[in-house]
Amino acid sequence: MLNHVFKKKFGQNFISDTNLLSAICEDASVGKNDNVLEIGAGAGSLTVELAKRAKMVVSYEIDKDLESHLMSLNLPNTTFVFGDIMQAKTEEIEKQFDGEYKIIANLPYYITSPIIFKFLKESKKLTSLTIMVQKEVAQRIVATKGNGDYGVLSIMVAFYGEAKIKRIVSKNMFYPKPDVDSALVTININRDKYQGIDGEKFYEFICKAFAMRRKTLKNNLIHGMASAEKIFILDENLLKKRPEEFSIEEFVDIYLKIFKEN
Ligand code: SAH
Repeated sequence: MLNHVFKKKFGQNFISDTNLLSAICEDASVGKNDNVLEIGAGAGSLTVELAKRAKMVVSYEIDKDLESHLMSLNLPNTTFVFGDIMQAKTEEIEKQFDGEYKIIANLPYYITSPIIFKFLKESKKLTSLTIMVQKEVAQRIVATKGNGDYGVLSIMVAFYGEAKIKRIVSKNMFYPKPDVDSALVTININRDKYQGIDGEKFYEFICKAFAMRRKTLKNNLIHGMASAEKIFILDENLLKKRPEEFSIEEFVDIYLKIFKEN
């Protein structure tokens, strides 16, 4: 039995329920041909299940106190890396795989969005993410226009792929028990969706459009953009709307109109 002092600052909420661990693997459809990146090995309970099913697993863990326990698991097709995933270069992480890979993880909740953005923007070989996140974050990930949860995260996920909530998971399934329930979300990546649009530039534009979500698109863009006069190319009726009233397709159209000649 692992004798571990749980560290809240690292978002340590472990899962031990084998049915739930199997369900995560099934929801992610892990099979013998899959390379898997896990973020946050913890005590290795999910890592063990992934290693049984996948071709190869690379698992990052920031907490060095877990190192001797994880190494003692002796998983033959698994490499543990002890360090901060946010400090690791995406390219370096990806070099460890012979091709495409999936992310499957019970994420450290304090950095959920940064992890999602990092891999969506930087990855070349990632095909899907199946991640345990706080329920509220899951709702933001899958939200569509007009919904109060709809914002930068929903739009950028929709820019790079398609997201689905696979299951809601009670906080009682974790130890230590977190304050809120969780949800397992799958994001299937589709890099062909908006080919030709620079993801980083589009992200900056969406952040500006949503800077003040109760304000109109016009107000947000006038304050946020260096060449503000360009926004008057847009129809007056569009400019009067609030950012949450635009679908991803509408935002892509607006973006292309504004940045056409740049
Ligand atoms: N997979 C395990 C643990 C999940 S808790 C389980 O489901 O039981 C999240 C884990 O992520 C913790 O072990 C925490 O130490 C680790 N972690 C937190 N921040 C991290 C970071 N920046 N890089 C790598 N691992 C991190």
